[in-house]
Amino acid sequence: MTEKDIALISGASRGIGRAIAVTLAAAGMDIAMIYAGNGDAAEESKALAEQEGARVCCYACDVADSQAVARVVSQVERDMGPVYALINNAGITRDKLALRMGDEDFRRVLDVDLQGAFYLIRQCCPGFLRKKRGRIVNISSVAGINGNAGQANYAAAKAGLIGLSKSIARELAPRGVTCNVVAPGLIETDMTKALPPAAQEALLARIPLARAGQSQEVAALVGFLCSPAASYITGTVIPVDGGLSM
Ligand code: NAP
Repeated sequence: MTEKDIALISGASRGIGRAIAVTLAAAGMDIAMIYAGNGDAAEESKALAEQEGARVCCYACDVADSQAVARVVSQVERDMGPVYALINNAGITRDKLALRMGDEDFRRVLDVDLQGAFYLIRQCCPGFLRKKRGRIVNISSVAGINGNAGQANYAAAKAGLIGLSKSIARELAPRGVTCNVVAPGLIETDMTKALPPAAQEALLARIPLARAGQSQEVAALVGFLCSPAASYITGTVIPVDGGLSM
């Protein structure tokens, strides 16, 4: 039996990350899942990915903690082997107008949404370089492309992910590793359930396809970017947003 590739997905216990785990499992990968603390949800994701034939291991880890990330990637490598596909999907929001946004609201979102991705990329790099192959997909947002009132922290982190990804794409291209960005629009998950109904309606009115997206519609693109068919694509930012960002 040939060994399966390993996908490491942050924020895989719920929402978009769960759909990515199931999609990559169905594509024939074994799955390492990182979650923050919601162990029951992680177990549900694990069961769904296992139904697709994957071996799945779950790890509780705050991606904003660089030492915890170093430990967890070492553990994944010991348990499963080197990572082939790294999906930086973990993210949080702390929405407020800039006028009222405290230092900690700004810092924490940057720490989780941007630094967390950097820590995971750095930690997976030696494995990528040894194998001379690999895929990185970073989940940004249309807010990182266009900005969004009330989301200065989140938009800054998500825009930062784009610069990070293009730099990593350039650094790792000579070693056979691609790095791309997927930028979702309004996707139905726990994160968007928290939006006030008026904000959801205002956003929906601006979406040409006139509906929210589903996690699977984001996961399908991630699956493609991790597939052999996407071997010549790197450094790109691809929206999955029903036309919102055009
Ligand atoms: P979600 O349903 O709120 O799920 C967030 C996931 O991230 C959970 O698995 C959570 O783990 C994990 N997480 C949160 N903080 C973490 C931390 N410090 N360390 C490790 N894991 C952490 O979010 P979602 O809507 O699926 O969003 C997924 C990604 O897509 C995010 O990066 C988000 O910014 C981006 N995005 C979403 C939308 C949208 O409309 N939903 C739009 C654009 C971009 P626990 O379950 O343990 O808490």
